[in-house]
Amino acid sequence: MSNPFQPILQSQQNHFNTTIRHQTLWQRKQTLKKLLTWVKKNQERIIQEIGKDFGKCREDVMLSEIKPVVDEIKHAVHYLRFWAENEKKSTPLAFLGTKARVKKEPKGVCLIIAPWNFPFQLAISPLVSALAAGNCVVMKPSEMTPSCEQLIKRMIEEVFELNHVACITGGVQETTALLQLKWDHIFFTGSPQVGKIIMRAAAEHLTSVTLELGGKNPVIIDKTAHLKDAAIKLIWGKYFNNGQSCVSPNYIFVEKSVHDKFCQYVVLEHRKRFGTDGLADPTYGRIVNAHHFARVTDLLNDAKQKGAKVIAGGNVREQDNFLAPTVMCSISPDANVMKEEIFGPIMPILAYTDLDKVLVSIVADEKPLAMYVFSKSRKTRQQIEQATSSGALVFNDTTIQFSHPNLPFGGVNNSGIGKAHGKYGFDEFTNSKAIIQQRIGMTSAKLIYPPYTGIKRFIIKAVTWWV
Ligand code: NAD
Repeated sequence: MSNPFQPILQSQQNHFNTTIRHQTLWQRKQTLKKLLTWVKKNQERIIQEIGKDFGKCREDVMLSEIKPVVDEIKHAVHYLRFWAENEKKSTPLAFLGTKARVKKEPKGVCLIIAPWNFPFQLAISPLVSALAAGNCVVMKPSEMTPSCEQLIKRMIEEVFELNHVACITGGVQETTALLQLKWDHIFFTGSPQVGKIIMRAAAEHLTSVTLELGGKNPVIIDKTAHLKDAAIKLIWGKYFNNGQSCVSPNYIFVEKSVHDKFCQYVVLEHRKRFGTDGLADPTYGRIVNAHHFARVTDLLNDAKQKGAKVIAGGNVREQDNFLAPTVMCSISPDANVMKEEIFGPIMPILAYTDLDKVLVSIVADEKPLAMYVFSKSRKTRQQIEQATSSGALVFNDTTIQFSHPNLPFGGVNNSGIGKAHGKYGFDEFTNSKAIIQQRIGMTSAKLIYPPYTGIKRFIIKAVTWWV
C-alpha cells in the first residue's frame, strides 16, 4: 500500500530542489519574520489553546511557550549571517595551489516530531532552526495536547505554503507512516523509548537524527550549600509545568548533616506557595491526561508502600488530574520513583554521607540530560564536573540552562543525541560541505602519483619521515 504522506514529501523535495535551496539569507529571514509576526499577533490564541490542554496559566505560557519561540526567531534572524557564512580554510604545504572552504548547505526535507509537555515551543523552536538553515519541513506535533496540535496546524497553514512547511496531525499510526519515508533529517523530542523507535526507522535510510530525550536529572546538595536558596530554587524548578519538564530535577541527594534542615526549608517554602492542601497557588497546572495522572500517582503509591514519608503535599483529585506538589523522604532505592523519569510533581529527597558513592551511582545509571549541584565548595563542584557526564551541569540553580541562547541544549546517549537552540540547532539542520578547488596542470599531489620510482620515492620518504 502506498504511503499517504509520500505526495507531501515528493512535493517538498521538488520545491526544495527548484526553489528553497536557492533562497538567499534575506529570503530565509523574511520567512522567519513572517512566523514571528504570526506568533506575536496570536499570543491570546496560544495562551487559550494551551490552557485548554492542561490548565497552564497565562504567565507560564508567556514564559515557557511564547517567549522562547520569539527569542529563538530573533536570535536566528540576528546571527544567521554568521552561522551560514562559508568558512575559509587555510592551505597546508601539501595542498599548495588549492583553495578550501566549508559551505553550510541545508539538508533538504526534514521531519520534526514534537512532545506534549511544552507543546508549542518544542515544536516551533526546531522549526525555526530548520528554516534558518534553509530546509523544507514536515511537522508532527503531539496528539496528547489536541488544542495546541490544531493551533499549530492552523498556524502552519496560515504562514507557509504546503510544499515548504506542512503539518501532519495524529499519533503513533501517522508517525509510523511518516517514519517509513526517506527524510534528509529527523528532529525528535520525546521519551528515550520512542527515541529508539525513531533511530531504528532512521537507520533504514541512514538518515541523520537529532534526539532530544529525557531521563532522570539528579540534584546534589552538600553541607556548604545555601539551603534556603536551594529550597526556593528547587521548588520553582521541580513544580514548573507541574514537574512535566525534561529538565525537571528528578531526585535530590542531600548531605546527611544538613538533610533535616534542608527538608524544613523545603516544607516552609512549599507551604508559603501551595498552602497545607497544595491548592493555594491558582497558577499551578494539572497533569496532562488520565494516563499520565495514573502513572504518576502509581509512582507515589509505590514509594509510600516501600516506606517513603510524604512531608508535604500528597493529596490527589482524580477528576481534574490534580496531584498536589509532593515532597517525600526516606525513599527506598527499590522505589520506582528512583528508577524512572518522574515527569510529575513529586520531589524525592535522599540523605547521603559519602559523595563518592553518590557519584558512582549516578555514573552507573544512564547519562542525564541535566545535573544540578548546590555547593559553595569549588573543590566539590570540580569533583562532580570531572566525575560525571550529562547534557548540562548547573551550579546553584535549576532549569535555567534551557533558555541560555548561547549554550547547546541536549543530552548524552540515552538523554539525547545532537544539540538544539541557536547556532547548535542551525548546525543540526545543516550539512557542512567540504569544498576544495585544485589548480589545473602541475599539482603537489601529482608528485607522488604511482609508479613510485626515483625522485617520487624520495619525496614520499620526505613527507612521511615522522610517521
Ligand atoms: P513520547 O516519546 O511519548 O512522544 C513524543 C512524540 O512521539 C509524539 O509526537 C508522539 O506522537 C510520538 N510517538 C509516541 N509513540 C510513538 C511510537 N510508538 N512510534 C512513533 N511515534 C510515537 O514523549 P512525550 O510523552 O510526548 O514527552 C515526554 C518525554 O519527552 C519525556 O521523556 C521528556 O523528558 C522528553 N522531553 C525531552 C525534551 C528535550 O528537549 N530533551 C523536551 C521535552 C520532553
